Formats: sequence, C-alpha cells, structure tokens
Amino acid sequence: MNDPLPIGATIGILGGGQLGRMLAVAAARLGLKTCIFEPGGDCPASHVANYHFQADYDDAEALAKFAASVDVITYEFENIPTSALDILEAHKPIHPNRRALATSQDRLTEKTFLQSLGLATAPFANVESDDDMQAAVAEIGTPSILKTRRFGYDGKGQARLKASDDAATAWQSMQDAASVLEGFVDFSHEVSVIGARAQDGAVSCFDPGENIHRDGILHTTTVPARLTPAQRSDAVLIAARIMTELDYVGVMGLELFVTPGGLIVNEIAPRVHNSGHWTQNGCLIDQFEQHIRAVAGWPLGNGARHSDIVMENLIGNDVEQLAQIAQSDTAIHLYGKSDAKPGRKMGHINRIYTKP
Ligand code: AMP
Repeated sequence: MNDPLPIGATIGILGGGQLGRMLAVAAARLGLKTCIFEPGGDCPASHVANYHFQADYDDAEALAKFAASVDVITYEFENIPTSALDILEAHKPIHPNRRALATSQDRLTEKTFLQSLGLATAPFANVESDDDMQAAVAEIGTPSILKTRRFGYDGKGQARLKASDDAATAWQSMQDAASVLEGFVDFSHEVSVIGARAQDGAVSCFDPGENIHRDGILHTTTVPARLTPAQRSDAVLIAARIMTELDYVGVMGLELFVTPGGLIVNEIAPRVHNSGHWTQNGCLIDQFEQHIRAVAGWPLGNGARHSDIVMENLIGNDVEQLAQIAQSDTAIHLYGKSDAKPGRKMGHINRIYTKP
C-alpha cells in the first residue's frame, strides 16, 4: 500500500477525453493537481488539467518524463499499449493495476476470468480462423454475436448472426481480428454498477443504473434501476467480488443483463464509466471524486444516492437543443468539444426527479 498522497500532489491521467476532464475537475476540488498524457491537442481534459504532455504512446522519452512528473498514474480508457505501460510502471504506481487492465482489454480473457469466479456470462467461443468460426457456430448456435476480442467500443467491432448462414459474412467483417462468438442473451433490460475500491480493500458501490442504448451508444441511465431487492444485492456483490479478486484500486464500471434466471455479466470497464455520470448530481460523492480518492490512497466517500435521476447523453448536434432540454431541475455537463460530429459525445444532462 502506498502512503496517501498529500494535498498538492499530482495525478497523471492517460487520455484527455471527457472522462479525463471530469477526473481532473474532481481532483482540483480535492486540492490535487492533474497532468494528462494525450497525443491530441485542444482535448476536453486539457482545458481543465494543470499540465498536458502532448505526445504519442510510442514516445518513450515523453512517457518517462510524464511518469517522473506525477505521483501516481491512472487512465480514462483501456486500450493503452502494453509497451507504454511497461515504461510508466517502472517509474510510478498505476491504478487500476495491470491485471485489471489486461483482463478487460480482451473479451476472451475477461469472460474466462468471470467464469473462473463462478459468475454467469453469455456462452462464448474463441474465433481466430474459418475453422474456429464453424466450430463456434456449431457449439454456441444462433442467434449470436461475433465481437472482436480487443478494441471494441460503443457496439463497434460486432456482427450479429441470425442464422448459421451468416457465419462467413460475420467472420469476414472482423478482418481477421481475433474474436469471440457470444450466445444471444434474452434479457429484459441492461443495468450497470459503478463500484469503487480503496487501497485498504474497502468497497463502495453506487446504486445500479438502468441503461438504454441508441445506435449502439448509451442514451440514458435511469436510477433507480428496475431490480428486485435480491437482484440489487446481487449486482453490487458481483462488482465487489470482481474488484476484490483483481486487487482493484479505483472505480470500475460493470455492465449486466437482467434475465428471469438472474444477472449475466456483459463486460467490465476498469475506469469511470458513462453510465455513472448520474452520480454527479445524485450523490454527495460522485464516481470521479471516488476514483481520485482511491488512486490517491484516501478513504472512499459516501456514495449513497439522494435523488432519482435520469442521465441523458448529448450526442452530435443534440447539444444545439440545449435551451429546450435544460430545465431548472437539469444539471448540464458539457465537454468543451468544438466539433459536434454525428455520434460524438458532446456532453450530458442529469435530470433530478425527486429532491432530497
Ligand atoms: P458490448 O459492446 O459488449 O457492450 O455490446 C453492446 C450492446 O450489444 C450491449 O449493450 C447489448 O445491448 C448488446 N449485446 C452485447 N452482447 C450481447 C449478448 N451476448 N446478447 C444480447 N445482446 C448483447
């Protein structure tokens, strides 16, 4: 265990998007500084962080300088090259740790890990060749979904199979990228748990939220989610189990499918998560502060929910309707992106339905 960081210490954040931006704001409120590492200029986090290393992930010298200038390192996205992590880790602690990152970077490793804990996942099979694809369809059947093992996000890198005839086209669309074929889960709705684990092993989970996607991108998160008391307990216990097993430090997002037979784990994200943005206005301590506290070695805060909230993402030109969307009980969070391209997350709003 590392000593708690003193006030004024610097947290290094890999990635300069909106998650990095909101982490930097939370750190500033706690009297901590942030230094982001991000190849792009004028990125959302660069507007609010103290320092910005603008360099590529294969720039060993910049990585070493960045690591030397911070006290601890965290990240806002999971696809960080292994070679960069090797350099960084030689200098400073990285939270969440390498094992958490490696587990969530590869859907096959992730599902195998989850099953080793006795947790329910969709049935799956590894696919790296035409023969594997045939064998996978024979084993898993249809309907099913073929997903690239790495680098998939917001529903990208996925192909659906309605019947076994779709197998060849689906595998071709992966362009030889190692994939997993997943059996289709007949779920009633999707929920996620945002959990936090401190360096001393304390765990605190936010109330599960219910997620609705549009065009493969998160559209809304509603809290409370439709769950029985037993399912709600189960959801947070699953999150705690995973974090404890990984000796995790920081905030984790866990996506679950709700089925009549119980909860099925879809995926884990080793970082603050879009489906946890409601915590900014629904809790005293939000996911960003909780993450900063954990990586700084500070005690976790009270993340109990005090209001009913609907978080809605502002995608592309949704942001132009802000005047109509934003009512007095609506908190606005914009990311400072200049170009409202279709599908781009520009901001989000949190609508409060009950007041404390
Ligand atoms: P993912 O990239 O794994 O989060 O998948 C994106 C979305 O596709 C999920 O939020 C689900 O709505 C849907 N999906 C993914 N995997 C499955 C599955 N095995 N069965 C049914 N729907 C799925």
